Amino acid sequence: MTVAGTKRDFYEVLGVAKDVQPNDLKKAYRRLAHKFHPDRNPDDPGSEAKFNEASEAFEGLSDAQKKERYDRFGHAGLSGAGVHDFNHMNVDDIFSMFGDVFGGMFSGGRRSRGTDLQTEVELSLTEVATGAERTIEFSRRDLCDTCDGSGSAPGSKRQTCQTCGGYGQVEQSGGLGGLFGRVITACPHCHGQGSKITTPCPECRGRGRTVKHRKLSVQLPAGIQDGQAVRVRGEGEPGEDGRSRGDLHCYVRIKDHPFLKRHDNDLVCPMPVSFTQASLGAKVEVPTLTGKAELKIPAGTQHGQLFRLRGLGVPDIRTGRRGDEIVQVLVEIPKRLDKKQQELLREFAKSENKTVLPESRGFFDRLMDYLGNSGET
Ligand SMILES: [Zn+2]
Ligand SMILES: [Zn+2]
Repeated sequence: MTVAGTKRDFYEVLGVAKDVQPNDLKKAYRRLAHKFHPDRNPDDPGSEAKFNEASEAFEGLSDAQKKERYDRFGHAGLSGAGVHDFNHMNVDDIFSMFGDVFGGMFSGGRRSRGTDLQTEVELSLTEVATGAERTIEFSRRDLCDTCDGSGSAPGSKRQTCQTCGGYGQVEQSGGLGGLFGRVITACPHCHGQGSKITTPCPECRGRGRTVKHRKLSVQLPAGIQDGQAVRVRGEGEPGEDGRSRGDLHCYVRIKDHPFLKRHDNDLVCPMPVSFTQASLGAKVEVPTLTGKAELKIPAGTQHGQLFRLRGLGVPDIRTGRRGDEIVQVLVEIPKRLDKKQQELLREFAKSENKTVLPESRGFFDRLMDYLGNSGET
């Protein structure tokens, strides 16, 4: 806290008279804030202190109750009155705190963030593996171009609200016979704005907002999961003050791949092979995210057996480390055999010393039934 005696008079800081009107007070502060904004004065280290001093003076005088206390008791009257310590705030905080002074809309000092929007993008599993860029088109309620969001017709002036005298707040006696003291509420006439539109903007009929089309490009990182969202800051709708926009959330839906199923960062690929391939061993081609890979199946491979193709999965969204592709072998039993094949297999069965029915509805149908009923996978 600054020592009271060293503090300059608020009216002197802002260069206004004691009977200043709220609109003139805003103008005076806006002028100083722009003049001393540190971004505009990179070579003057003292500008931030001046900016903060003006902000503090504005806070003290822009609130009817605080102004009254300041007028009667000076700086001492504001101790404990909920005045901010501007020396510990940065310029952006102050700008958003008094955003109504700088933006087109007046919201009586109450700042509210704009609405967040959401949209959905569909990605293929292949795009998930590499990351993708998408152009997104959507509509949002945005600041009206004609009036810059103020709602007033260009050239027309807002009229100071008669009810609250431009303060945007009114005082009501609360509780029983005022026992609970005074209650300050937003002025019901101007909804806390301190002024009213005299001539509404013809484009937006005084709303200050029109529906606008927006197109932007969004980066979707490799490894993103189905249902996850990418947040694009500041692409939502503008807040009441015309600034402090909400965000746009892009939810990701991942399309099914014809062959591959995702399990975290691994991909699972069911791979049908014939019973002879499984028995004798074979080289097979398996689909991957980028095309195909060759897999050597050893002789004696069992139904359901898993083979791991390292690094052919999806990268982790944080570490970038790739998962694997896991090939699951599904041994297929032929549904139809010609005479010659039946002969050969009967011979084979003899060598195994197994009993086989001579009918055509025989060995393999029963084997299929057996595999189905035994729950083997
Ligand atoms: Zn307008
Ligand atoms: Zn009012």
